[in-house]
Amino acid sequence: MLNLRWSWDHATQEVFRDVAPELWRGDPVRLLGEVTGARLAELAADGEFVARLAATVEDLRGYLASERWYQGLEEAPAGVAYFSPEYGITAALPQYSGGLGILAGDHLKTASDLGVPIVGVGLLYRHGYFAQSLSAEGWQLERYPPIDPNGLPLTLLQDIRVELELPEERRLHAQVWLAQVGRVPLLLLDSDVEENDAALREVTDRLYGGGSDHRLLQEMLLGIGGVRAIRAYCAISGHPAPEVFHTNEGHAGFLGIERIREYREQGLSFEEALEAGRAGTVFTTHTPVPAGIDRFPRELIQRYFTGPDADRVLALGAETYDDGDPTVFNMAVMGMRLSQRVNGVSLLHGAVSREMFGGLWGGFDTDDVPIGSITNGVHAPTWVAREVLELAAREVPDLVTKASGWEGIAALPGADIWRIRRVLRERLVTEARRRLRASWITRGTAPAELGWINDVLDPDVLTIGFARRVPSYKRLTLMLRDPDRLRGLLLDPERPVQIVIAGKAHPADEGGKRLIQQIVRFADAADVRHRIVFLPDYDMDLGQAMVQGCDVWMNNPLRPLEACGTSGMKAALNGGLNLSIKDGWWDEWADGQNGWSIPTADGVQDPDRRDALESEALYELISHHVAAVFYDRTEEGLPPHWLEMVKHTLATLGPKVLASRMVRDYVRDLYAPAAHSFRQISADGFAGARELAAWKARTVKAWPAVTVSHVDEQIAEDSPHVGSVLSVRAEVQLGELSPDDVRVEVVYGRVDERDRLIEPHTAVLSADGGHFGGDVPLDRAGPFGYNVRIVPRHPLLAASAEMGLIALPADPEGMTEGDLR
Ligand SMILES: *Cc1c(COP(=O)(O)O)cnc(C)c1O
Repeated sequence: MLNLRWSWDHATQEVFRDVAPELWRGDPVRLLGEVTGARLAELAADGEFVARLAATVEDLRGYLASERWYQGLEEAPAGVAYFSPEYGITAALPQYSGGLGILAGDHLKTASDLGVPIVGVGLLYRHGYFAQSLSAEGWQLERYPPIDPNGLPLTLLQDIRVELELPEERRLHAQVWLAQVGRVPLLLLDSDVEENDAALREVTDRLYGGGSDHRLLQEMLLGIGGVRAIRAYCAISGHPAPEVFHTNEGHAGFLGIERIREYREQGLSFEEALEAGRAGTVFTTHTPVPAGIDRFPRELIQRYFTGPDADRVLALGAETYDDGDPTVFNMAVMGMRLSQRVNGVSLLHGAVSREMFGGLWGGFDTDDVPIGSITNGVHAPTWVAREVLELAAREVPDLVTKASGWEGIAALPGADIWRIRRVLRERLVTEARRRLRASWITRGTAPAELGWINDVLDPDVLTIGFARRVPSYKRLTLMLRDPDRLRGLLLDPERPVQIVIAGKAHPADEGGKRLIQQIVRFADAADVRHRIVFLPDYDMDLGQAMVQGCDVWMNNPLRPLEACGTSGMKAALNGGLNLSIKDGWWDEWADGQNGWSIPTADGVQDPDRRDALESEALYELISHHVAAVFYDRTEEGLPPHWLEMVKHTLATLGPKVLASRMVRDYVRDLYAPAAHSFRQISADGFAGARELAAWKARTVKAWPAVTVSHVDEQIAEDSPHVGSVLSVRAEVQLGELSPDDVRVEVVYGRVDERDRLIEPHTAVLSADGGHFGGDVPLDRAGPFGYNVRIVPRHPLLAASAEMGLIALPADPEGMTEGDLR
């Protein structure tokens, strides 16, 4: 029970449910607190139940002890630490607000399934995020029910205490709770302890609440306290010490400062300690929305970080680029400077992040900015209905951990899929009515007036789901742009549509609450209320019911502000189809057959006009395509084209959107290389860190003298053609540096009409007497260009752009062009 694996193991959940079906609300701790002794005695005498229970326990033991995918890897990191300000593991542990938390939960569960030796760190918020209800007028109300950790599936780690030194001789103390997520320990720091004064006890009161001071203390506790908690936990539990630290968003950025402090105590200089910390650190940025990035007033940081390294710490968070604000300390910027490897969460978001943060890497082109991407995924056992998993398992063995074999789905009979889809739709309808009734009672209506709710939603009508947090870029009310149009779709006599909506606005976001109110008021109207519902208090339980029961998952953010989006992936794995703006993951994987893309009016500056165009396209798609395909039936009542699309989605999108694909990508592309870098840099008493810091200082100092003074080219034939070879010779000045300290490169390829290189290639020129020279193959027809540049070179750099240093020919139009036939 204290192992949270039950939260994604259907068989265990059923055992709990059968303890007392009328009490089961998806929370075993609560269940066992409420069930009577008589019932337990009855179960103890029930041989069949006892045998099932024993089998479940045995299964868990096997899960925890067996060799998994990771155990077959060579050179993998001994341990990985994962930092996030929120975790969505189960609705019974309400420590999340949205996508970041859900992703963190899915990451840990998947790491457990794959055997990745990860340890998670976060905070335990005594009031979680908030519980949402509605006023009679449809206005969002927030409640902060206190949680009692003793009533949650958590264990207090009695032997661990964390302490942080604060200004004016104050100290922040925290105790540490353990949430055991399968094989993965998750440490949650809690400042509500006696040693703290009243104000400090409140530090972990709620998620994303409070002013700058409060947030800073939370983030110091998460980053600095988090490292200390991990050290203590590894010492007492024998969990391998992390070689890699993975930080999600800027919130936990102070972990890098704490690690610098640790290495300083071992005798390294600040710069050496910085290199040691960076080598093993991975930073994932999760949003391109500026409001989602933490920025503190500089003076606030100055107040909390004093001592000999204070100025260097301040410099790490300084916005030193064009339109940077000199008065702020930016946590994302600090996070990137403290990490040798940085990634976004979809291909498009990677590109947007290179643009957005490119200023940190000086003169490099956007394409060269060292920010990659790993597209998010979702944990199938958490999000996929048991019926769907069982059906798919007929064709795809070991569907969850193996991201392969999904083509087999094509062999499933359409009738079986359709039958299960109806079961799930009906389950959602039942759940929606239950929640809607509860909501109307909270809003002050007498149960006797709520008879109409028995007819809300129809288990045979095309069901569209729309659930998300409510920041303005997600455009909750785009569908309301033309209310008559929407009413027409809902009430269509032949091909009606029904819509289930949910989402929380941040408590300080009045604008978001107004959007919710608009939706609620529309949905309250007697003529449409049987076809459109707003369900309060979106959480993982409601999310599961929605992604399983909806036929279509709708998403209409303002492109490109949705970094990835994951709820549409959950729907796809349940046999739902996506109807979405081409943003985040959908930009990458929409293929025309797995759903519908809402055309974006990119480049239209007037937001009102843009909404008008995009909503028009949305109505058009729903009526002429989505509903048309859904209601096109064979004599047996099956929608043939729809089922083709569902099968195609499962077979081709299924393996891509799995978190097991994502976690494998992290291990292979980021964790393993980071561990390798860390081993190299820390060997022999951090000889590598010392050497790299000294080399960087020398290189930075010498760089102003580094130039490309002259470039010569030669082609053997008179007229260049495809297959010719271009010989390039460059004369360079290196000042104090030696040829081993640099790489002289030719960047070449096709050019566009504005003379910029498109997807350029790079060839390295080798030192040849006083020159650098080499050959470039001319292997493509069309306009062609190249440029010579010098970048720093050192075996401990992960990317040549890492230091932001580059030298180009003195002539700024230095690119040479030609045309190939
Ligand atoms: C999946 C999920 C999210 C994140 O959804 P996005 O599509 O990434 O916005 C947020 N909240 C809940 C409850 C979820 O299940």
